This record gives sequence, structure tokens and C-alpha cells, in this order.
Amino acid sequence: MTPRILLIPFISLLAWGQSPKTPGPSALAPQRLKIALDAGHGGDDTGAKGSKGLLEKDAVLSIVQELNKSLEEAGFDVMVTRADDTFIPLWDRARMANEAGADLFISIHLNAARARAAKGSEVYFLSLDRGDEDAASVAAVENAGAGSRPGADSVVAGILEDMAQKAYLQDSERLAVAVQLQLNRLGGIKERGVKQAPFVVLRGAAMPAVLVESAFISNPKEELKLKDAAFLKKLAVAITQGVRRYFAGAAGTARRKAISTSR
Ligand SMILES: [Zn+2]
Repeated sequence: MTPRILLIPFISLLAWGQSPKTPGPSALAPQRLKIALDAGHGGDDTGAKGSKGLLEKDAVLSIVQELNKSLEEAGFDVMVTRADDTFIPLWDRARMANEAGADLFISIHLNAARARAAKGSEVYFLSLDRGDEDAASVAAVENAGAGSRPGADSVVAGILEDMAQKAYLQDSERLAVAVQLQLNRLGGIKERGVKQAPFVVLRGAAMPAVLVESAFISNPKEELKLKDAAFLKKLAVAITQGVRRYFAGAAGTARRKAISTSR
């Protein structure tokens, strides 16, 4: 018996176990990327308040609604952590995005500063330590409503959650840079870079994740702009452009392809 004869039944067995060669329609369709949008605060947690009474929780929900539209128009799937005035515990937000299989997580907030002239957008990604003083105080304000981690008794669960975002920090930084660049253009700001701070809402995200402090609600001029639909749309388009630039530069060719076919 020659080795060639022995091989024939072996090869047919391999073929038996394989899936059909012809791809179905789903394999031919471009892969759609899913973006998780998180409007900060909600319910009793109002977030920061403008001097004319605008609440962060309401303004960020409006931004997320615009961003949802803009991302869908650009060919992305979108899921939101909250679609109305409900508070979602911070620890649950990344978990919802993980369960939905999202490719990116973007949390939308508004900044507040004692200096009323402070303006523009700041994009953050997670720092596993405290970060610098200013960044740490921004994170402390945003983390205020977090409460304790559910199942805080489980050390293993805690470590796993921390590790989730740790694996994506480089990508999160690239995403932050891409979005910041577009927001700087929108705001006519040249030099503002991205920042790192220990935001609870980003920690459990098993995907690139950023938090956008979209504008300063403490600045009366920016508070006024946040009530203007045209400005919200510009903000949404700028963030969408940043997301697209991020994927265009991503190493994964499948992802790059998905974006180019969605144009
Ligand atoms: Zn906030």
C-alpha cells in the first residue's frame, strides 16, 4: 500500500468537517462596526450645571442623540447606554457595551471649571493610576456617582475588569488623539492634547474607550452654544470624523475595509 492511497480517506474526512466553501450573503456584506455611546449622568445625578440652568445630564443626552445620527449616517451601528433621563450605574455602562459586542466606547460629558473663561473640548482615556492633579479632579467629579463596584468582594472580578481596558490603552489613546484633533479644529484650538485620568466608566470596557468632555458648561458662552442645535450637530460631526480617522488608521485591514465600503 502506498502512502498516497492512505491519504485519500484522510483528506475526505477533513473535507467532511469543513464548512461549505461558498460564502453566504452575510460573509460578503461589509463588516459593520458598532459604537457604544454613553451619555453621562442621568436621573438624580444631574452632573454639572451651567449658570443659566442647563444641566449636564440633559445636554449630553442631546449630544449623544446627534452623534447617534451622525455615526449611523457614516455607516456605523450604534448602541446607547441610556436613551432617556435614567441613571445607569457607572459600572454597568461598560458592561452593556461589552455585552453588545461594541467596537468602541465613547462616554460624553461636559466640563466645569472655576475659571469661567475655560473653553473647548478635552478627550480623555483611562489612566490606571491617579494621573496629574487637574485630570484627577475632573475624574473625581465624574466618578462621584459611581458608588461601590457591584460584587466588590470579588477580587478576581475587580482585577478582570481593570484588565479589560488595560489591553486597549494604546488604541484608546489613538482614538482620543483622533477625536481631539477634530474637536480642536472645530473649536479653533491648536495645541490641546489628550489627557489621561482614572474614570470609573472606562475601566471595564473591553474595547478602545474614551471620555469626551465636549465643552465647558461653566462657560456662559459655551452653555449658550450647547442649546444650539447647529452647534450640537457640528460637535457630532467632528467626533464622527475622529472615529472614522481612527479606523482608517487602524492596523486591522478588515476594519479599514468596512469603513471604506461604508462611504
Ligand atoms: Zn459628567
